[in-house]
Amino acid sequence: MILPGTLIDGLDSGVIVLDGAARVVVWNAWIAGRSEVTAEAALGRRLDDVFPQLAGSHLLAAVARALDNGLPTVMSHNLHPRVLPLFVRQGAGAEPVEQSVVVRPVRAEDGGVACLIQVSDISAAVRRDRHLRDVTVYNRTLFEMAVDPMATVSAAGRLIDVNPAFAAAAGVPRRNLAGSRFDALFPEPQAAAALVVAALADGRANDVLLGLRHAGGTVRQLSFSAATVPSQGDADDVVFLVAHDLTERIEAERDLEEFAYVVSHDLRQPLRTVNSFLTLIERRLGDDIDDELKEFIALAVGGARRMDRLIVDLLAYSRIGRQGAPVEMVPLAEILAEACDNLAGAIADAGARLDLPATLPVVHGCRGDLVRLFQNLLANAIKYVPAGRTPDIAVACRDDGVTWLLSVRDNGIGIAADNLERVFGLFQRLEGADDTEGSGIGLAVCRKIAERHRARLWVESEPGRGSTFCLAWPKDA
Ligand code: ADP
Repeated sequence: MILPGTLIDGLDSGVIVLDGAARVVVWNAWIAGRSEVTAEAALGRRLDDVFPQLAGSHLLAAVARALDNGLPTVMSHNLHPRVLPLFVRQGAGAEPVEQSVVVRPVRAEDGGVACLIQVSDISAAVRRDRHLRDVTVYNRTLFEMAVDPMATVSAAGRLIDVNPAFAAAAGVPRRNLAGSRFDALFPEPQAAAALVVAALADGRANDVLLGLRHAGGTVRQLSFSAATVPSQGDADDVVFLVAHDLTERIEAERDLEEFAYVVSHDLRQPLRTVNSFLTLIERRLGDDIDDELKEFIALAVGGARRMDRLIVDLLAYSRIGRQGAPVEMVPLAEILAEACDNLAGAIADAGARLDLPATLPVVHGCRGDLVRLFQNLLANAIKYVPAGRTPDIAVACRDDGVTWLLSVRDNGIGIAADNLERVFGLFQRLEGADDTEGSGIGLAVCRKIAERHRARLWVESEPGRGSTFCLAWPKDA
């Protein structure tokens, strides 16, 4: 049989019992260890005699209520932290014990009333709460202060929470947004709903451009990224959204396109004048013209024509992806057939051999852009070949998991290692390119088209033996 005293001393919580006169009759080992007052020292004394700092405390009032009125008191940590001066020694220091205390009347052996004080150590939970609060405050501050619009959306497509930047972008007060439908804020609600569905299905969705309607009537262009945090327990999944306002950038690009259009249009006019008058001069001089003058005129005409070509190409470059051409499923076989058709003259002139794969995939993209991309690569493969060598070109395609790895290999002059990146820059032509016609814009166009489709374009080469242009095209582009 276990003696009650042993039992009480073995408890992992504190037990103090006071008799009807509020004198200590039980002081278990847990209390003794954490107060550094032994049971011998405490027994028979009043609590405020053992701990003078308790005079006038809520604990003593609770003890009086239990003994005088038979009423229990629960002293929660929030309202009454650290009721008793208890601590745990840790090396040289001491950690206070966070407590949850219950004071209640109990019947004494003599039939009178006694008071039981039960103390639990809730330090670990309090520390956890504090940490959680710190993390919450930290995250909340980031959310509130972020310049980029942010929102959380329920699996049912309703806004749970938005930050001030989001409310400002929508022009609607925050309190009116919470609980409302997310897709209702967009002129194209299906696209907005699809973003939430995609994030729920795949866990992520990146860089989705959506027009967000502002209450004032304007539409702002936002690029959204979304992530789904899997719920714990029964709660529904929540989609976190972060947006980046691209309205100004898109407008600036549009202005630039407008500017490029106007400038090219206006520049081409005087160029045409130069051209036609040079031709007139040549005609007027008739047979009197000597060879030198003839050459001067030809050079001037050639210069004007090259400049015209540059302007036209630059205009085309500035326009890539802005005409709102639809992204669709396009068979690459059709794309290559069209590119070869357009180059039929050049292929025949050079006697080029062209090796195309038997099967090619169907990819997501803009048809016109894709034709231009392959046409430019093939045209270069025909152009940049040493004199006397017949162009031998091989197109290949490999399934690389998440991407199709396409390649266009030639047996041309090749590109030095230093220039492998440079060739994709605007107006960049390498040494030796002067004999061939070109403006140095073709590969910049290819790079821009690839980027707009989230594809990667690069070149590998063995100078003197040939180059391979590689294109990693995402299957979900
Ligand atoms: P362009 O052909 O009008 O000069 P591109 O932008 O298409 O302009 O190409 C840039 C430069 O890269 C070319 O001038 C040439 O020097 C080099 N280049 C492009 N394609 C090849 C190729 N297949 N082999 C060797 N050099 C190339």
